Amino acid sequence: MDMLPIIAPNLNANDLAERSLAGEDLSREEALSILDWPDEDILTLMQAAFKVRHAAFGKMVRLNYLVNIQSGICQEDCGYCSQSSISDVPVEKYKLMTAEEVEAAAEKAVANKAARLCMVASMRGPSDKDVAGVAAAVRRVKERFPQLELCACLGLLKDGQADTLNDAGVDAYNHNLNTSERHYGEICSTHGFSDRLDTVRKVREAGISSCSGALFGMGETREDVLDVAYRLRELGVDSIPVNFLIPFKGTPQGHREELTPVYCLKILALFRLINPFAEIRIAGGRELHLRSLQPLGLYAANSIFVGDYLTTEGQPGSQDREMIRDMGFAIVGEDTETGAVPLVDRVTLTSRQARSAK
Ligand code: SF4
Repeated sequence: MDMLPIIAPNLNANDLAERSLAGEDLSREEALSILDWPDEDILTLMQAAFKVRHAAFGKMVRLNYLVNIQSGICQEDCGYCSQSSISDVPVEKYKLMTAEEVEAAAEKAVANKAARLCMVASMRGPSDKDVAGVAAAVRRVKERFPQLELCACLGLLKDGQADTLNDAGVDAYNHNLNTSERHYGEICSTHGFSDRLDTVRKVREAGISSCSGALFGMGETREDVLDVAYRLRELGVDSIPVNFLIPFKGTPQGHREELTPVYCLKILALFRLINPFAEIRIAGGRELHLRSLQPLGLYAANSIFVGDYLTTEGQPGSQDREMIRDMGFAIVGEDTETGAVPLVDRVTLTSRQARSAK
């Protein structure tokens, strides 16, 4: 007997893609069905996500390079974070990097083919002196690497600080919503969801490109996942990093084991279909949670981080670039394919054969 394709009840993936591209809002019921999509039929869903991704971004992948410009000294109590005031994770501690140190990070970003350097500081929010220090670093890096986009992530902003960063040449500002308004109090008590919204709005008002995303695997419900996806659409953010929890021993969220690779793909597809023209970036936890399904994630997302995360190692950048090329995709800003290891150099004899060949 012929097997019939399994599809989510009453949902046609291609139709969802077309409506997404036409700018239509998907209903909550439809969005929920995306998260409940049958695992066996995940390729149909990713094909729909790819249709939207392709219309907006073709087969291009943007690479972003992270630098932790202030590490391990935050006063906030975000339960997922290895750098919070309540974390026992033995992370490095240092104050804001100098402009020279940020320039050195920019060199590494360029060497890794990154289009954007993301400068992240662990802090509740910057003082005006901190903003002046970051602005000086930005001016220095822009002079040397004018083509490299610079994104700052310094926490909650006070009035006027976004304008100072804009004047210095900051291209984007990242401030994640992380989860739904309802769930926010369960992951952090020292600031609220409305504080986060306020900073995202300040960034937009200053004319800086807004980057704001989410983090999954912290006990949120599927309704919470939808809430944050719709909220980011409402805010009209340009770039959406989708993080999957890296569970750190020594943090309140360190015990979580909630995600599967295929569920992570469904979240990425949902974000693409709800935010068709936003840059969707697979961010922290990519290697840990998507594992062997990482390449499929790029059918929905058009952007990834390359190199290490804030306090954990990522896979080698060469492996990321190879994954992108193997899929027939291309890296934004890379003119020619470089760095492919010849096949002959990938052949390794077992130790016994190697010994007998001597
Ligand atoms: S504000 Fe940022 S650095 Fe501070 S605890 Fe929260 S996530 Fe970590």
